[in-house]
Amino acid sequence: MPASDAEAFNSDRTSENRLLLSLKSVSKTYITGDVSVPVLRDVDLEIYPGEFLVIVGPSGSGKSTLLNIVGGIDVPSSGDVYFYSQNLSQFTEMELTRYRRKHIGFVFQFYNLVPTLTARENVIVSADISESPMSPDKALELVGLEHRTDHFPSQLSGGEQQRVAIARALVKNPELLLCDEPTGALDLNTGRMILEVLGNLNRELGMTVVIITHNSAIGEMAERIIRIGSGTIAETKVNSHPVAANQVTW
Ligand code: ADP
Ligand code: MG
Repeated sequence: MPASDAEAFNSDRTSENRLLLSLKSVSKTYITGDVSVPVLRDVDLEIYPGEFLVIVGPSGSGKSTLLNIVGGIDVPSSGDVYFYSQNLSQFTEMELTRYRRKHIGFVFQFYNLVPTLTARENVIVSADISESPMSPDKALELVGLEHRTDHFPSQLSGGEQQRVAIARALVKNPELLLCDEPTGALDLNTGRMILEVLGNLNRELGMTVVIITHNSAIGEMAERIIRIGSGTIAETKVNSHPVAANQVTW
């Protein structure tokens, strides 16, 4: 990458007060009985408002742990997590719940839809617990599912179910859309469609999107790629020419 591109990105994005979220020296060790497993070691991470960030790393490198800490599902063993100027590490359980509800949308590999609810009802459940939701039909339209709203998950393809899951996350108007292996269960073409939906939400709504994946090809469509290995950040790269979702291949 030419130095001038990195400089342009940096001058535009790096002023501290523009950070949406940052991790400062975050470590995480899981302790089960007398076995302790260090998973993250001294991780510093910055997420800028409106960016499309991909974090890649092999299976077991600590990606999901990292995303869960960012999303307030898990807490670090040491270090701090700042959401704007608020330190999540000092939040009570209730404040963390409110943080997740109000600011975070989660998309998982296996959709996690309620099987007995229709697509629209799955999205409504999420809208009902959020403080400033968009209309559920609007969210379903944004993912291109306006014709499938009354179908149950079992009547939808994997890609369609993932789009419902994205609509369910999106309906909350979250500050951050966190996606854990969102294409992991999908074939190439369906995976590309999901990436296209995520890319459109970023471009058209200005939504901040973070994808974590073991699939480094997905990094090609990111503005910034962070490589994680054995619980530490091995590399951060600014991508001056992100490719369109339909050009990503694996
Ligand atoms: P990735 O998403 O990159 O595959 P994870 O963050 O899921 O990696 O896991 C990293 C390591 O942490 C793995 O070795 C995993 O077994 C371990 N781990 C994750 N969650 C827990 C937990 N709740 N208790 C104990 N070990 C865990
Ligand atoms: Mg994982």
